[in-house]
Amino acid sequence: MTKIKLKGLQKSFGALNIFKDLDLTIEDQSYVCLIGPSGCGKSTLMRIIAGLEEADGGQILFDGEDVSALGCADRDVGMAFQNYALYPHLDVAGNLKFPLLAPRHRGLYSKKEIADRVDSVAELLEISHLLHRTIGQLSGGQQQRVSLGRSLIRRPKVLLLDEPVTHLDARLRYAMRSELRRIHEVMGTTTIHVTHDQQEALAMSDHLVLLRDGGIEQQGPPMEIYTEPQTSFTAGFLGDPP
Ligand code: ADP
Ligand code: MG
Repeated sequence: MTKIKLKGLQKSFGALNIFKDLDLTIEDQSYVCLIGPSGCGKSTLMRIIAGLEEADGGQILFDGEDVSALGCADRDVGMAFQNYALYPHLDVAGNLKFPLLAPRHRGLYSKKEIADRVDSVAELLEISHLLHRTIGQLSGGQQQRVSLGRSLIRRPKVLLLDEPVTHLDARLRYAMRSELRRIHEVMGTTTIHVTHDQQEALAMSDHLVLLRDGGIEQQGPPMEIYTEPQTSFTAGFLGDPP
């Protein structure tokens, strides 16, 4: 089943043409890694899917419905960025529950529901012991978990991860691979993960998409792309050491 479909997507920044006519289909509950050269539009694409950036043309469908006109808060998405953008004046629990307290959700979540969600997401990310720490008291890896927890608190069906582990050291980055896959399975999300690390993309994804010059250079199961690159660009990009 298809979860997300982009049809004829167009996006420019002034004279800079990022996407001319991009089509992309993402299967329900798949783990998709998005790779491509720096500046090719990976973050822009994520922001367009999230509803944080408007496309100039084309359609964005979630479950067959056009969500192009909906803002981020009205799309069923959670997003975690490489800079965690946590609120330093709130403790961990405050950061986790923040998305549930937005004025638009007033009355939607009871106190008990909010407490239950904070507990379950903290358990999932193994940060239950940190709930009353301030952000400044956390390590980079812990902050990254809080940021992920915050993006999951509304239980979104679509999880967008833009270089979520870039700022972590190599050992933690490696450990987070299986963590992210576990979270994806437990939450049953459709996950799109941007990474500049080809090894990470090959190891983690069900479906790999290589972007280049505003289009898709090649996509498919990671091992197929690795063993059967259709262009010398693909071969070079995936063959490069990370
Ligand atoms: P990537 O994430 O693949 O590195 P981005 O999506 O961040 O690439 O950016 C794609 C291109 O668009 C880059 O050249 C970037 O400088 C440009 N760009 C991104 N956001 C804006 C913006 N808000 N205004 C103008 N140019 C932008
Ligand atoms: Mg980027």
